[in-house]
Amino acid sequence: MTQLGDSHRRFLQTMMGVRIIDELEAKKLYQHCCETYKMHWTADGLDPFIETINLKLQPMFMQVKKGMSEENGHQYYALVNTTETDITRMSSDYADNELELFRKTMDLIVGSERGTASSTDILNSTDTMTSKRMKKSETEHLLTRLVQDKWLCEKRGEYTLSTRCIIEMEPYIRTMYPDQVKMCHICHNVAFQCQICENPTCGIKIHNPCVARYFKGRMEPQCPACNDFWPHEIPEFRGLPSQSKK
Ligand SMILES: [Zn+2]
Ligand SMILES: [Zn+2]
Repeated sequence: MTQLGDSHRRFLQTMMGVRIIDELEAKKLYQHCCETYKMHWTADGLDPFIETINLKLQPMFMQVKKGMSEENGHQYYALVNTTETDITRMSSDYADNELELFRKTMDLIVGSERGTASSTDILNSTDTMTSKRMKKSETEHLLTRLVQDKWLCEKRGEYTLSTRCIIEMEPYIRTMYPDQVKMCHICHNVAFQCQICENPTCGIKIHNPCVARYFKGRMEPQCPACNDFWPHEIPEFRGLPSQSKK
């Protein structure tokens, strides 16, 4: 069986601290760890390097998992827990009523068309809590912590699921919301922040960065599923990687 070298261990230690890094940082870290311990590295050696780490992590129910950011279309690597299939994985850091409110926030985000929940809607959802009800200030403090801990992202009072959350919680989300979750028609991963085909018999979803990639340079954007005109503005992303590898 492959042994974990010092370079693998160093990589893993950094991942334990940061939990998530983008592909570019991961490549730099891989190169740095190899050079530090005089190990040979190659330009496309990151994924096999991570596979070696994952083999060792498997018995500990951990994994370095890759996924795309809905925000910028870049690939990220997150260190995830594979034992818990639900959000009890967060129970060491959050109280029961805090977890309940996070679940409610997820309900709002997953149930929304564009994958967002407003702070007002989240605050209002405390009315229906079954565990100890949270005050407004407590809720605001919790939301700040959830952003700091990289479970949620916030922009102008609108909350979205973070890349870490999507990578780590995908199995949970698919199980919990089987009728609401939709896959991106282009990359086939779960899609929250996205554009939707307006043809009522179609209604496919495409991530914003996948939209940018797919429609780039096309004069008359058409839905890739039903061929209807794609009525949305095609977003532009700076420095978008040309293809998304899984
Ligand atoms: Zn996609
Ligand atoms: Zn369509």
